[in-house]
Amino acid sequence: MTTAFDLPADHPFGPHNLPYGVFDHDGRTRVGVRVGDHVLDVCSVPGAPFADAWAAPSLDPFLALGRPAWQAARTWLTALIVDKSEHDMLALHLVPLAAVTMRLPFTVGDYVDFYASEQHATNVGRIFRPDAEALTPNWKHLPIGYHGRSGTIVLSGTDIVRPCGQRKPPTEPAPVFGPSTRLDIEAELGFVIGGAPSALGHPVPIDAADEHLFGVVLLNDWSARDLQAWEYVPLGPFLGKSFATTIGAWVVTMDALREARVPLPGQDPEPLPYLRGAADEGGEPAAYGLDISYEIDWNGTVVSRPEYRDMYWSPTQMLAHMTVNGATIRPGDFFGSGTISGARRDQRGSFLELSWAGAEPVVLADGSVRTFLEDGDTVTLRASAPGPDGSVIGLGECVGTIRAALAS
Ligand code: MN
Repeated sequence: MTTAFDLPADHPFGPHNLPYGVFDHDGRTRVGVRVGDHVLDVCSVPGAPFADAWAAPSLDPFLALGRPAWQAARTWLTALIVDKSEHDMLALHLVPLAAVTMRLPFTVGDYVDFYASEQHATNVGRIFRPDAEALTPNWKHLPIGYHGRSGTIVLSGTDIVRPCGQRKPPTEPAPVFGPSTRLDIEAELGFVIGGAPSALGHPVPIDAADEHLFGVVLLNDWSARDLQAWEYVPLGPFLGKSFATTIGAWVVTMDALREARVPLPGQDPEPLPYLRGAADEGGEPAAYGLDISYEIDWNGTVVSRPEYRDMYWSPTQMLAHMTVNGATIRPGDFFGSGTISGARRDQRGSFLELSWAGAEPVVLADGSVRTFLEDGDTVTLRASAPGPDGSVIGLGECVGTIRAALAS
């Protein structure tokens, strides 16, 4: 007899993945672990080591427990799931995905969005500042970021209302107000922070960064390019970004992504010592990339396939940089990688780049033509990474549909 645990070796949610989410079922909200097309209600499994944390309506208590607990949980879960004699017992605690409602997996604390793709920064520089050097002089010395708005981070599936704001078309002498006409996406990876809070005034060294990196989610940083272009000088992104950011429901742990670690594509000039970490003594380098392949689906057509391994800065470098001035991190803090763009047109992670600010329209499978998002459009991000022994680590989906602007 086959069970819910008999999954093909390359199933994206097989026993090597075990991502965490938060689900509603039977009137209760609690932490679950995805196995195939089911959610394992982990707090109800007899002997569950962190049942109190997992019975909470968010991952917050589990995030606070730190890396030793995360690893102990993974060891316990893996042992149960690979042991066929446990499957009848475990099956009592499985809920079909179709029978649950997913919730935002954690309370988002401080949110920072980085800009870690050299190709994306180069493309945006060329489009926004055609008369200047594409990369700013600081770009290869520090991971550039800005503080985003944590309160508007929403779960995959949430509709996105087209934002209104000021924009200044080049043909107009003064700004106009109205719905954004250049609504865009940014395909990114989001990093969820956990472990003990750091102390004010005390940077987290790059060699300790992994102690604070719990896992990743898919992230779509919706961006109103016309609002952004008018407002961003000199203090950076503001209302062109803060109206909504979508994240996926499943947090894939950094432990599930061990096989997906790859060397960075190369950093020249060498970064300052606080961004380098200790010399690699046969262990893992402090700075690393991740081999995660993305798909950007626009109304059913895959229009781009960015590769996360092309990113210039490591997540550990981003975390070290974010705290080097003594700013604290707490469980639930969250940062985005920045748009993931590769060298080829079909690897660009935003429609600003894909349509080259509207000059090179994109034709979808149904024959419709797009530059930026139209009302009713749906964008779905999907991604996967290699796991051990030929397995696949799925990151799930990050979906949003654009709704018309409110009457203004
Ligand atoms: Mn972004």
